[in-house]
Amino acid sequence: MADIIQLLPDAIANQIAAGEVIQRPASVVKELMENAIDAGGTHIKLIVKDAGKTLLQVIDNGCGMSETDARLSFERHATSKIRKAQDLFAIRTMGFRGEALASIAAVAQVEMRTRKANSELGVKLNIEGSEIKSQEACQCAPGTSISVRNLFFNIPARRNFLKSNSVEMRHINDEFQRIALANPDLHFSLHHNNNEVYHLPPGNLRQRIVGLFGSNANKKLVPVKEETDILKLDGYVGKPEFAKRTRGEQFLFVNKRFIKSSYLSHAVMGAYEEMLTKDTYPLYIIFLDIDPEHIDINVHPTKQEIKFDDERLVYNYLKVAIRHALGQHSITPMLDFDQDVNFGSFTPGATPTQSDRPEGSNSQSKVGGSFQPKEKSPTEKLAASNLKHWEKLYDGLGKSTAPNEEPATVNSTPLTIESQWSEQGQGNESSEKPLKSSKQPFQIHNTYIVSHIKSGFLLIDQQAAHERILYERYLDSLSKQQAISQKELFPKTIQVAPADVPVLEEMIPMVNQLGFDIQDFGNNSFVIHGVPANLNPGKDEQKLIESLIEQYKRNVDMKLGLTENIARSLAKSASIKRGQRLTPTEMQELIDKLFACQVPYKSPSGRHCFLTYELDELEKRFKV
Ligand code: ADP
Ligand code: MG
Repeated sequence: MADIIQLLPDAIANQIAAGEVIQRPASVVKELMENAIDAGGTHIKLIVKDAGKTLLQVIDNGCGMSETDARLSFERHATSKIRKAQDLFAIRTMGFRGEALASIAAVAQVEMRTRKANSELGVKLNIEGSEIKSQEACQCAPGTSISVRNLFFNIPARRNFLKSNSVEMRHINDEFQRIALANPDLHFSLHHNNNEVYHLPPGNLRQRIVGLFGSNANKKLVPVKEETDILKLDGYVGKPEFAKRTRGEQFLFVNKRFIKSSYLSHAVMGAYEEMLTKDTYPLYIIFLDIDPEHIDINVHPTKQEIKFDDERLVYNYLKVAIRHALGQHSITPMLDFDQDVNFGSFTPGATPTQSDRPEGSNSQSKVGGSFQPKEKSPTEKLAASNLKHWEKLYDGLGKSTAPNEEPATVNSTPLTIESQWSEQGQGNESSEKPLKSSKQPFQIHNTYIVSHIKSGFLLIDQQAAHERILYERYLDSLSKQQAISQKELFPKTIQVAPADVPVLEEMIPMVNQLGFDIQDFGNNSFVIHGVPANLNPGKDEQKLIESLIEQYKRNVDMKLGLTENIARSLAKSASIKRGQRLTPTEMQELIDKLFACQVPYKSPSGRHCFLTYELDELEKRFKV
């Protein structure tokens, strides 16, 4: 019988290998960017068209390649990074398998331009489906530029399998963020369809985090740093009160390599223990540095998994280190008033000293400070207990201002400072009335609400407070998938900028879940049949939707999850604005609802919802 076994032709072998290494555009991004870093690039630019389906290009200023190396680099198992089996246990480069370029070239149309700094000319290579189409000398900057066009052009099944542009772009964004975080000393930029999404000059890790997640991130960070003989730990964890409902911002790196480990992420979550509100996830960006001898990264081609010699040791170390860091930095109390033993250094009722105050903490910490916790309640009951505590705060102020009760509505005209003055001016006949209304909340500059509490007063930012209320309501509706819609008597048609059409289309299913009833009418127009029942009345739909789209796009850059993004965007767009007059009833309702929130003291984007003014402190300030 004739022999039937044959070696596979390279092109087919490469295509098979590509199946493992290159799953989607984001995999190409990872491989090319890692190569750029391994090549010593300090300035790395990623260009993306159509979420990578049309083009992915990485340009670096690294060491470049000679003509021969350029050609060889596309062969399978061609690598400059390891030479012998032993090297596998001392890997400090990102790549080592020599599979990436071969795999990419097997499933796309690739053009490489590369030049070593000391060569006068570079080389340009075109490869398509593993086949070299052309090779010529070219003029180019020192370093390497690789463009990958029409990924999976020769494997229709895989190409069809790709997800929508927004999903693929999210994956690309993830990879980009991981690499940018792991290398804050390098310059990175990301361009998508001619927009510069990120521009990240070299800096330290904190600056890099801010560059990626926005300046808001800065105040959320608690540094972690510990070192032992075999293990070094460095990075930041998020303050518990900023924990989000999505896991988005959680990064663990081992020797600068992003890894996924549910075991180790459990250790991190364990360190927070009762500090987190139910179903919220803190930010963390943690770098473990271990002698490569003690780990095995050779587990999976995409290398997101890793094996440690002693995983339990790493687990415990991580947990203890983070707990320690949180303990040291937990002067900002959470609003659950149940300061517990986790906060080693925090004594309730004590005024935090200057030195142990975290940056960004201010008057809100007084809220906790003015309280003596009586009993411990599980954090799960946070919302309920918040309200309970707030009731205490208002104790003794008379019925009319106790939350949860209808405020006295003697006066239905909006009560502002001015009207108080005039009322007092003529209020000789009744000593009762001014007293009563002085305890009603009132508005200043149509922007802040003054609300009396036992120990002083609160100054509430009406917009921030309303955003918080709406945000929690929307998150709730989205998780329960129910909201009440109010049909418009006359459906309204709105026009949307052409570039925003796909954005709104993407948002519609969720936005409709919140009580809107929006339909795509084609030709850049949409019909609004209904709006959420409790929407701020008198809203101009066109403006509302425009603002919603704007917020949403901004939040996409911040890489919020879809639910989080929609809830935040709509909260911001539909909220009461600064400058808007409110009736006392509306003010009271706002206050009641704010303190029924899970996290009443910050707006979703991190602004304080209120500041506390204590009579004691005011008294001190008036003394000379
Ligand atoms: P690996 O990174 O595992 O070695 P790759 O297929 O990703 O395998 O790359 C093959 C080789 O091509 C690398 O070992 C390196 O020598 C060279 N190479 C790839 N990208 C670059 C680049 N951007 N600059 C310089 N050399 C590169
Ligand atoms: Mg590589």
